[in-house]
Amino acid sequence: MEFNVDKIRKDFPILSQKVHGHPLAYFDNGATTQKPLQVTETIRRYYEEENASIHRGIHYLSEKSTETYENSRETVRKFLNARSTNEIIFTSGTTGSINTIAFSFGEKYVSSGDEVIVSEMEHHANIVPWQMMCERKGAKLRVIPFNEKGELIMEEYGKLLSDKTKIVAINHVSNTLGTINPVKEIISLAHARNIPVLVDGAQAVQHGKIDVQDLDADFYAFSGHKVYAPNGIGILYGKEELLYDLPPYQGGGDMVDCVSFEKTTYNELPFKFEAGTMNYIGAAGLASALDYISGVGLDNIRDYEHSLLEYATTKLMAIDGLEIYGRSPEKISIISFLLDNIHPYDAGMVLDKLGIAVRTGTHCNQPVMDHFKITGTLRASLVFYNTKDEIDRLYDGILRVIKMFG
Ligand code: PLP
Repeated sequence: MEFNVDKIRKDFPILSQKVHGHPLAYFDNGATTQKPLQVTETIRRYYEEENASIHRGIHYLSEKSTETYENSRETVRKFLNARSTNEIIFTSGTTGSINTIAFSFGEKYVSSGDEVIVSEMEHHANIVPWQMMCERKGAKLRVIPFNEKGELIMEEYGKLLSDKTKIVAINHVSNTLGTINPVKEIISLAHARNIPVLVDGAQAVQHGKIDVQDLDADFYAFSGHKVYAPNGIGILYGKEELLYDLPPYQGGGDMVDCVSFEKTTYNELPFKFEAGTMNYIGAAGLASALDYISGVGLDNIRDYEHSLLEYATTKLMAIDGLEIYGRSPEKISIISFLLDNIHPYDAGMVLDKLGIAVRTGTHCNQPVMDHFKITGTLRASLVFYNTKDEIDRLYDGILRVIKMFG
């Protein structure tokens, strides 16, 4: 299928606005992506034609709404190549998905003296829930370090795996360094010792095809809003046999089978993990976003974004005093950088005045900042609606910043 960025940009009206008198160049996609008309239209249509609470009514709208919700689940199943819709749980986002497993798995399987492995490049969302669980259970968090290029040191990972390890939680792609981690290898090493692995896919699903069966991931988490879908919806994939044995995370309506004051029994999968009125409109928006990027073509997206990454990296590296953090050859289109002696906030503010939106700060990756002994970076995260012209403007903007502060 032909990839035409000009045509694609017409699907994202927000991109055609001016900011401070300049055309917007939106490079904050790692934080959240913009939504195509197809997604906003799905949501509008839902509210105008279909809205009713799911799973609870026998009236027409409720049944229609339930059908859309379950069809959305099937769309996600296909997108991830999961075996069954019982393995697809709607959550509020990656954070919600990870907290679900950290709590539920911790309750069932972790006790004093056990260990949980994460990496030094995790987003706080894949550190803190495990840390909280470890504190509760008297377990210990072990950390896989990364090298100066921003690659996980696999020998160290091998050394950390032991009979004490209960679970490994690892990001597929780092949100600051852009590194694509060798998750298949990480999973296979853990499985050799019967240790399950949770993969944080928050920065992976929007950049290329994910196949949870091929990865053999036990749990896989991602957020809707980073994949062109609405905020407040996310996915927890889990192997059915593992989810079946885990206790529910939250109690409430819909996740129950039978409730009495003496004893409550729980609903079957996947509903056991979906307590309360779920974000069914967000689920429909997510399905619509996944259909949209599948229509654009995940291979097209991967190839085009890679060409943007190469173009931007070559241009930015030519700037005197600019340092890029994260130089793994296996990388998605995220570029974190600093300018010699210039505070990232100062640089970010000048770029904003030129209509260029980059992220500044620690990106919820304080351990990564500590590794490099820095307080933050500028981050340009590029996706398939960005253009080389926008990268040229970023380059010119950085030269202007250096002229002002350098
Ligand atoms: N994991 C990674 C790698 C992320 O980049 C993010 C968000 O930036 C998260 C987890 C948390 O995602 P959310 O805030 O949507 O739950």
